[in-house]
Amino acid sequence: MSDRDLEKRYFKNHYPAYDETKHLLDQHEKLDGEIVSSIHSFIKTQTSKLVNGVTSNDYCIKDFSVYTGESGIALYLSMLSNSQGMTDDSHKKIIRRFLQSSLNHCHQKKISFLCGDSGCLALSTVLLMNSDPELSKQSLFQLLSLSDLLSNDNIPDELLYGKAGYLFALLFVYQSYKHLIPLQLIQKVVNHLFEDGIANIASTHVLCLSYTWHNKHYVGAAHGYIGILYILLQVKLLLPSCISSEQLKTIALCLDQLLELRFTSGNICSSIGNTTDKLVHWCHGAPGAVHLYALAYKIYNDNKYLSAAHRFAEVIWSRGLLCKGYGLCHGVAGNGYAFLCMFQLTNDSSYLWKAVKFAEWCLDYGVHGCRTPDHPFSLFEGLAGTLYFLLDVLTPYQAKFPAFQLLSYK
Ligand SMILES: [Zn+2]
Repeated sequence: MSDRDLEKRYFKNHYPAYDETKHLLDQHEKLDGEIVSSIHSFIKTQTSKLVNGVTSNDYCIKDFSVYTGESGIALYLSMLSNSQGMTDDSHKKIIRRFLQSSLNHCHQKKISFLCGDSGCLALSTVLLMNSDPELSKQSLFQLLSLSDLLSNDNIPDELLYGKAGYLFALLFVYQSYKHLIPLQLIQKVVNHLFEDGIANIASTHVLCLSYTWHNKHYVGAAHGYIGILYILLQVKLLLPSCISSEQLKTIALCLDQLLELRFTSGNICSSIGNTTDKLVHWCHGAPGAVHLYALAYKIYNDNKYLSAAHRFAEVIWSRGLLCKGYGLCHGVAGNGYAFLCMFQLTNDSSYLWKAVKFAEWCLDYGVHGCRTPDHPFSLFEGLAGTLYFLLDVLTPYQAKFPAFQLLSYK
């Protein structure tokens, strides 16, 4: 019986522990060693496969999202273009074409960055600023206008479809062009998230804030507390005055209460009350939690958050080589980012080693017998996300989980 049959959800991790005599970085803090040329050659061949695939006639023309559609491909290609020595004018044309096509499909009814309209709007605002300033300006106007949806009761708070995702979009633009985003708007979204969390508190006695998606108290980064609190803490890092000391205390209490929901394995449940310890994905479980508690440690400087982050990372090392594949949302690349996060936070080379091993696994793309994702080229389920991770591994101190992490933890 193979390891896969034994474990079902993940492959047994046979990689050896880090050998401290090995240097992993060169003098410029770039990844060093034999794997670097393998990563470069993989990126080259697979990007060309990706570009051929997404420009073929039957590519998902109607999907404009960052998560599975054209905007996500544009985000990967822009990251590739920004990487030294990898500029390609044909990629710039595709970025522009995909963003324009996404804007045509965007109806300003969905508020979030990953699965809504604010993703292509924020990307167009930033990426088309120089090449098409008029379109960039229109995109910004539409992005800001999406705030009209905030008072709509049907808009959830979570990251993939909700207000936390809109907050990310505003922060994404703010990070590049501070003057374009009114601080009052960021403050308004922050307040909405706190008001919603407090207003629904009667529905749960477990946590001091209450967030639901489809009537469940999800915990993970995609639909739950981890994603919402993580975006709020990034606001604290980028715009300290937008989170009050009272709000910061509430977040800390919620962080402590979430830690009580951990399984004995060290993993965290996918929703409150769910006692099945099975998911170790960015979207559900420990990998999203690593980012939240790493950032919490940076902000609160409390060792219990650092210990929590270390413990979550252990779970990913033992159960993170997922049978689901190589993607960001529920795949090995997304899990690999947790080790880059811990490396940036602690400077501990054993974490970089773990990220490199997960990258090495991804280089054998498709040979482990994993199912092909529904959106095989996409940023969050498919090849574009894996390539994004591999590019980031090359400069590990600068790595940032796309559409989620705005600053390095260094
Ligand atoms: Zn997922």
